[in-house]
Amino acid sequence: MSRTIEQPSGLLSVVIPAYNEREMLGRAVEAITGVLKAAAIPHELIFVDDGSKDGTWEEICRAVEATRRAEHPASAVRGVRFSRNFGKESAIFAGLGEARGNCCAVMDCDLQHPPEALVDMYRLWQEGYQVIEGVKISRGKESRFHSFCAKVFYQLMGRATKMDMSRASDFKLLDRKAVDALLRLKEKNAFFRALSSWIGFETAQVEFEVQERQAGVSKWSFGGLVSYAFTNLTSFSAAPMQLVTVLGVIVLVCSMLLGVQSLYKKFTGQALEGFTTVIIIILFIGSILMICLGIIGYYIAQIYEEIKGRPRYIVADRCGDESEE
Ligand code: UDP
Ligand code: MG
Repeated sequence: MSRTIEQPSGLLSVVIPAYNEREMLGRAVEAITGVLKAAAIPHELIFVDDGSKDGTWEEICRAVEATRRAEHPASAVRGVRFSRNFGKESAIFAGLGEARGNCCAVMDCDLQHPPEALVDMYRLWQEGYQVIEGVKISRGKESRFHSFCAKVFYQLMGRATKMDMSRASDFKLLDRKAVDALLRLKEKNAFFRALSSWIGFETAQVEFEVQERQAGVSKWSFGGLVSYAFTNLTSFSAAPMQLVTVLGVIVLVCSMLLGVQSLYKKFTGQALEGFTTVIIIILFIGSILMICLGIIGYYIAQIYEEIKGRPRYIVADRCGDESEE
């Protein structure tokens, strides 16, 4: 692969998933268009309203109208509205599907991803890189417990994907080829952050400092994060299934040792005691079996989810699309 071909200044589509971000929307439009106009990068913003209930959609439509009136040829705002909350990953993929740019960036609506970094990413794209990843210098303000959990998750994830994910984020800029490759993936349970590395291509990184959220609240609860982590881990790796085999072997070895001990006691005529051992063993094996069934069940549930072939999201409304008018 060579990176010698310099791209002309192509259209940049910025995909922004938004869920209950009414307060941030206007600021996001202003900040992002401000930076991109100053750098003379032709762009379009695509907001994906992930079933918000706080009037985010009205704000998006207002932003669409406002940019249309301003008639700035180099910028446009469009909006897609989901029929309900389908999750950030679905919103990202919907936005990428809508994008018409020669390259597409994905960023959060809460401006925790600094828009200035978009310019560096775009320049790298012009140099010929096809996947430009935003990597976190620091993880911003988080509780210790949260960063510990994130660390464990990313280590497991890193092993599953064979990529270093510890500083990965959803802030990326992808060439049209990479976007098309991603959109061709059929899996419903798509984990954007890992898949965008998985597809390969010539990759560069741009470091950024995670900003503080200016308004609104984070959409993640602890339970939500745990289930998100487990879903993504199992969608990328069969390692938890192999854990079942490992547990089986451990239990087998333990039971062989205990078996030898019991036989020895029987033949030396001291076999009466030992009910405690029996109880412990039954409980132990019982719980291991349950855990293993749970893990296998989880994969079956995922297969079931995928095989139903339902769409990743349902679009209820659009605005700012000229083809409608
Ligand atoms: N988001 C979304 N759907 C969801 C949850 C979040 O589209 O179900 C969007 C949200 O509007 C924001 C981005 O994903 O633009 C990141 O969310 P948030 O800031 O809550 O996550 P954090 O930064 O705390 O990880
Ligand atoms: Mg955030």
